[in-house]
Amino acid sequence: MHWADVLAEELLKEKKKHVLATGITPSGPIHIGNMREILTTDAVYRSVLSKGGDANLIYVADDFDPLRKVYPYLPKTYEKYVGMPISDIPCPCKKHKSYADHYLISFLNSLKEVGVRPEVHRASLMYKNGEYNEAIKIAMDNTDKIKDIIQKISKRQLPKDWIPFNIRCEKCKKMTNAKAVLYDYPYIEYICGCGYEGKVDITKGGVGKLPWRVDWPARWKMLGVTFEPFGKDLGTVGGARDTGERIVEEIYDYPAPKYTVYEFIMLKGKGAMHSSKGTALSAEEMLKMTPPEVLRFLIMNNQPGKHIVFDSGLGLLNLVDEYDKLERVYFGKEEPEKGMKDLEKTYELSQPEGIKKKMPYQLPYRHLVTLVQIDPSWSNIKNILLRTNQIPKELDKENERHLKQRAEHAKNWLDIFAPEMVKFEVKKQIPKLKLQKDQIEFLKSFKDNISSIKWEPEDIHNAIYETSENLNIPIKASFKTIYQIILGQEKGPRAGFFLSNLDKNFVLKRIEEAVK
Ligand SMILES: [Zn+2]
Ligand SMILES: [Zn+2]
Repeated sequence: MHWADVLAEELLKEKKKHVLATGITPSGPIHIGNMREILTTDAVYRSVLSKGGDANLIYVADDFDPLRKVYPYLPKTYEKYVGMPISDIPCPCKKHKSYADHYLISFLNSLKEVGVRPEVHRASLMYKNGEYNEAIKIAMDNTDKIKDIIQKISKRQLPKDWIPFNIRCEKCKKMTNAKAVLYDYPYIEYICGCGYEGKVDITKGGVGKLPWRVDWPARWKMLGVTFEPFGKDLGTVGGARDTGERIVEEIYDYPAPKYTVYEFIMLKGKGAMHSSKGTALSAEEMLKMTPPEVLRFLIMNNQPGKHIVFDSGLGLLNLVDEYDKLERVYFGKEEPEKGMKDLEKTYELSQPEGIKKKMPYQLPYRHLVTLVQIDPSWSNIKNILLRTNQIPKELDKENERHLKQRAEHAKNWLDIFAPEMVKFEVKKQIPKLKLQKDQIEFLKSFKDNISSIKWEPEDIHNAIYETSENLNIPIKASFKTIYQIILGQEKGPRAGFFLSNLDKNFVLKRIEEAVK
């Protein structure tokens, strides 16, 4: 059984109605590891629905969290904002409403693209609207108990004057500097590091925030959460999940949600991704170069507890091939391979929007990678595809949209991540070259041989081999000659397929110029 079905069944055993939550602090580019969290939750959500359950998928953006430090991707001038809630800090590009929005909006757009449509809750509004008020009072009334739980479980000592509330200083607006002096409901008197002394009324929303270890369980109860996965960093013994479980049950009188622990996604050659260390690949960047169904497939095809190494180089092409193969198997066009598990469910969960009745028209992704380098415009690519019979004349709109989108992704991949070895450019003018005698001899004879053949990959391929053999020229040298006169480099994509996509007259003319 697929892991999402296993988790969904566990939930449905308890009851029919579920709230599946996922959350993120948008304090930096939201990376692909976070995408795993939300896609994992989305998979369980879809499985609960498909089994007749009633479910809600929610996404909590913790945009009331203070900025922890000036991250490497921020200007130095942000030093003055450290400690302020990220929803109150200006956005670095000046185009968004706030710092939090700057990162959140692009992530929410990415979610749309992968077909995830959660109900979004913003912590800043929940605090400011007073939705947290009751949870804050309960926490303050149970300060000693909460402190005890955290100290015992996390094995770390909290300061003597610790309270489960971070006051936001009214003067410097920082949430990390104020010390409580006296609590007398509904007021907390405080002294701030900036020198200000004041008091806040906790029945007025937005005057501070529960610390993370208390905020999380409080939120479970407020939103009625029954399932929320977390990364293995939070799942460590004594971690926030452990203390949260005790706090939600003992202080908030609410059962801890079910969960699954998901592993990190490693970027090949870079290790685990952490936004704060700059080793992250943002979800947005990844989606630019990965078709959305393929990104979903990467998550759905692996148990959450298995770590994934994402190879943004040639590995990405293999991943797309693997997905395309699964699609052919799903539609009964090919036999499954050994080791392909839960393939139907994996394929279905990989679809951003519904499952097509007919198999989408497939074109090997590698071919697209070659084609977009021959000509980046879709209408020209489409003409090449039609001329070379790689797509049927009556390709429908939906399939065309799909191929066009993939061509876009291939282009972005070439721009950002593709290794140099797969890149090339068809030179508009013949490159400056000094060809050897045997190269000229090869080109002359090759031109004669191709003038009468069908302009198709195999025929061209055979012509290259025959010409080489007849002249006793090593085949490698012949390929090199072809690449040199067209690309101005010594290597290139598979010659037969490559040349077939170019206009035959263009190739003949180029050879003429080269042998002149
Ligand atoms: Zn911005
Ligand atoms: Zn202050």
